[in-house]
Amino acid sequence: MNFENTLAFAQNLDSKDDLRNYRDEFIFPKVEGKNVIYFVGNSLGLQPKNTKKYVDDVMTDWANLGVEGHFHAEKSWWDYHEQLSAPLAKLVGAKREEITVMNTLTVNLHLLMVSFYRPTAKRFKIICEEKAFPSDQYMLHSQVKIHGLLPEDAIVEITKRPGEHSWRTEDIIEKVNEVGHELALVLIGGVNYYNGQVFDMEKITKAAKSVGANVGWDLAHAAGNVELKLHDWGVDFAAWCSYKYMNSGPGNASGVFINEKYLDDPLIPRFEGWWGTKKETRFLMKPEFEPMENADAWQLSNPSILSVAPYLASLELFDKVGMDAIIRKRNTIVSYLEYILQEIDKEVESTFEIITPKSRGCQLSVFLHGEGKSLFNYLMKKGVMLDWREPNVIRLAPAPLYCSYEDVYNFGQLLKAGIVNK
Ligand SMILES: *Cc1c(COP(=O)(O)O)cnc(C)c1O
Repeated sequence: MNFENTLAFAQNLDSKDDLRNYRDEFIFPKVEGKNVIYFVGNSLGLQPKNTKKYVDDVMTDWANLGVEGHFHAEKSWWDYHEQLSAPLAKLVGAKREEITVMNTLTVNLHLLMVSFYRPTAKRFKIICEEKAFPSDQYMLHSQVKIHGLLPEDAIVEITKRPGEHSWRTEDIIEKVNEVGHELALVLIGGVNYYNGQVFDMEKITKAAKSVGANVGWDLAHAAGNVELKLHDWGVDFAAWCSYKYMNSGPGNASGVFINEKYLDDPLIPRFEGWWGTKKETRFLMKPEFEPMENADAWQLSNPSILSVAPYLASLELFDKVGMDAIIRKRNTIVSYLEYILQEIDKEVESTFEIITPKSRGCQLSVFLHGEGKSLFNYLMKKGVMLDWREPNVIRLAPAPLYCSYEDVYNFGQLLKAGIVNK
């Protein structure tokens, strides 16, 4: 498409956008009475208007029913989380039984390592990306140490080539083959949080499986953002948080995928709790653990319903819109943002360098050479919410459910004004 850097062009794109009305389903923070331009949906998605009702319903049931709410609330609490499996399965390309919702992301990664990282003297290495999200690094390091190994022996980080800003699939696959029979696990963020790169999850999974390793994906920046086919790709496990592109509120429940081939494996090691036992006999309070026949077998505690309810509200919206439509708009709006950045770059002295590769989702990460934090402060004051990383990288994520082309155009004008007026 031939884009134009004009308000009329942006408004015309909005008028043809099938998803334009979904913007009204969200609550925007305001600066000087006006909705902000919200480009940080990769960090904390906006609140859907509908979410309050889902939370209020739980509060009302609790007030009116007390403990009886477990079984007699309109949406009973003891099996509340089951409502999320079907829409989530669709969203990540899984079978319903391969999905559960529990805890939070880093907690779940630790729990999944119990099942999927079982190092032996010969096979003990983990491949991950260099500079992974810190929580993932801490998680991996502490897991390795629990097994009496040293991170420097067990963890192999895939580096980028000198002067390049993204990882090359062929370098990852080469490393997988090189580590070969010593490789126990590949665990990478499916979409990198810093440069926005979408990894070739299918190819990397295939390569790792072919050398006999397990493969897990941290989908924090991928769920609700990119197309996923976890089951068909043969992924062993995955986990993601619900508060980034999934708009489910700060720190809310995490989603988990466990490949069906492990669901009836009586020997798989796992930390266990009462919410993982068969629901039919759970309340007989028997001493034996009889696992659920789905990914719920990994559940420990009765879930925090107040944390799961906003996730249900959000999933119903995602289910209504569908990932195909979201991805279609995402591709256009991110391309428009890229075009606007290039146009503004021509008009000002700074040089913008987009470090996000073509294999991307909703996020563009940009070096603003010659600019500093004062530009960020200017933009915040003008009602643009974006992510700033020292010394001068911005991360922009125009989430397709609630950002408009007009937002992108207006952002360009404010960016230019901020640079020219400094
Ligand atoms: C956001 C993010 C997390 C956050 O972890 P929590 O346990 O939800 O606090 C972890 N890993 C990655 C890759 C992330 O992007």
